[in-house]
Amino acid sequence: MDILLLGPPGAGKGTQGALLAQALGLPKFATGDLLRDAVKQGTPLGLTARAVMEAGHLVSDDIILGVIRDELAKPAAANGVIFDGVVRTIPQAEGVAEVLAGMGRKMDKILFFDVPDADLLHRITIRRQTETRADDDPAAVAIRLEAYRKQTAPVVAWYEAHGGITRVDAVGTVDKIYERTLTAVGQ
Ligand code: ADP
Repeated sequence: MDILLLGPPGAGKGTQGALLAQALGLPKFATGDLLRDAVKQGTPLGLTARAVMEAGHLVSDDIILGVIRDELAKPAAANGVIFDGVVRTIPQAEGVAEVLAGMGRKMDKILFFDVPDADLLHRITIRRQTETRADDDPAAVAIRLEAYRKQTAPVVAWYEAHGGITRVDAVGTVDKIYERTLTAVGQ
């Protein structure tokens, strides 16, 4: 089963994605984590992506689609993947659909994690106190939210027009949201 998690920065995709991956025995694939790792290791990908990420902008569709193709070619991805924050533009949505179709697959479920803006800012502020992410400073956060509104919010409409999405009320405790997430994927 291939499951895409959509939602604004700070919506809890990473937390719920990890729980869901464990429950379903599928690998979780987060482009944000993969890129941060590449930056840490100083790989060519990391060197290219670093400044763009730290400023809060989106990495180019070409780079992301290359990363997605590599990930899907891995044996671990053969039975499905939890895509966490992987699709952030319409060209990426089209590209992933094409790669999956080439493997005889499709995005089986698209979950949209719904959180009001005020909660998002609060969550990111708290995360900043426990994790050190270069893009969690207020200026970069504002740019990430703007990138989300301009480039990623239309992706929700794209999926609505291509098979539909399932909304998950992502306000509440991690446990409560996890229950809703499991219900949303039919578990
Ligand atoms: P968040 O969703 O909270 O912004 P992530 O850890 O998911 O955080 O992503 C961090 C950064 O990585 C993004 O701001 C962006 O620069 C880059 N990134 C991750 N996934 C993508 C993607 N699919 N397309 C473009 N850029 C991406």
